[in-house]
Amino acid sequence: MKPFPRAEISRCALQSNLAQLRLIAPKSKIMAVVKANGYGHGLLNVAESVGILNYVQSVGKYHGGADGFGLARLEEALQLREGGVKGKLLLLEGFFRQSDLATLVTHNIDTVVHHESQLHMLETIKLDKPVTVWIKIDTGMHRIGFTLDQFEKVYQRLLHCPQVAKPIHLMTHFACADEPDNQMTQDQMNAFLQLIDGLDGDRTLANSAGTLFWPTSQADWIRPGIALYGISPVVGDRGVNHRLIPAMELVSNLIAVRDHKAGDSVGYGAFWTAKQDTRLGVVAIGYGDGYPRNAPEGTPVWINGRRVPIVGRVSMDMLTVDLGADAQDNVGDSVQLWGKALAVEEVAEHIGTIAYELVTKLTPRVVVELLD
Ligand SMILES: *Cc1c(COP(=O)(O)O)cnc(C)c1O
Repeated sequence: MKPFPRAEISRCALQSNLAQLRLIAPKSKIMAVVKANGYGHGLLNVAESVGILNYVQSVGKYHGGADGFGLARLEEALQLREGGVKGKLLLLEGFFRQSDLATLVTHNIDTVVHHESQLHMLETIKLDKPVTVWIKIDTGMHRIGFTLDQFEKVYQRLLHCPQVAKPIHLMTHFACADEPDNQMTQDQMNAFLQLIDGLDGDRTLANSAGTLFWPTSQADWIRPGIALYGISPVVGDRGVNHRLIPAMELVSNLIAVRDHKAGDSVGYGAFWTAKQDTRLGVVAIGYGDGYPRNAPEGTPVWINGRRVPIVGRVSMDMLTVDLGADAQDNVGDSVQLWGKALAVEEVAEHIGTIAYELVTKLTPRVVVELLD
């Protein structure tokens, strides 16, 4: 018997999604965003699947993988290098300590520069080789990045800093690209392109939502994260609408099936009570695995070809579902919490969160397995 719960990761789906993103943004290079352990899919699983030169079954030939990888932490980038991953790596939040700069040079890792403190660290160090930097320009997200007013001075300082490789690359990030009707994205785009007009260096604006919904934002590099995993960034939308395939199937097993009498409650707090006689199934997954405790009654799971609702509270190691009075399900049957049969976007809508959070929050107890 396979261990459970398991997150089965489909190499084919990852490769197919990458190929689909190439079709959607044919002129752009792809920086596959693999922060947070490849959005919970396993950093090296993803890097191996969409790294340089993969044999793609569906295409029947070798196909160029991602042109680079985007990460949030230096440790993630080092894990990729240790795993033998070549090609461009970019720290999307940059470095946090001056001593990290030598590591960036040694391992040929690009960094975002978004803050005065990073400028200062660059200007007061000697490095064996200059480091490749991407200036992060704040065009409206107002989280990290230099303002439009600060840009010219910052650019000049980087230009004159011997520790910085030339050309300097240019980046911004959208606040509302997942709202296809929100004018803000176009305003951010205009502000960015106007500011950097005529400068050397590569340009990058688009995350998944930008790539899918704002094609004019694709530029030299796109930075898709969630779309690579087959998930739509837009509430109410699904990855399949963009010919993306869910790369993760979260599965576990039924470990008990029991008859349950009308009027009886189930689980902690006894807050759900059966209206009629039914059969309950107990699934071996809970918040100790990263399945949210706040999943309300009615959140679907997929068993033997149908959706059945969660009833009662999700506990640490188990959750209970109402299989129905005539259920024929057995202990040992496989249960899909999300995946191809049940979109993680749909589950997220029930729980009142976004699919990003569901896939990244799985705990180490879930066995992550890379399959073809
Ligand atoms: C996480 C991240 C991305 C990827 O975002 P998705 O919505 O998952 O496509 C792109 N750019 C930056 C700067 C990020 O931090």
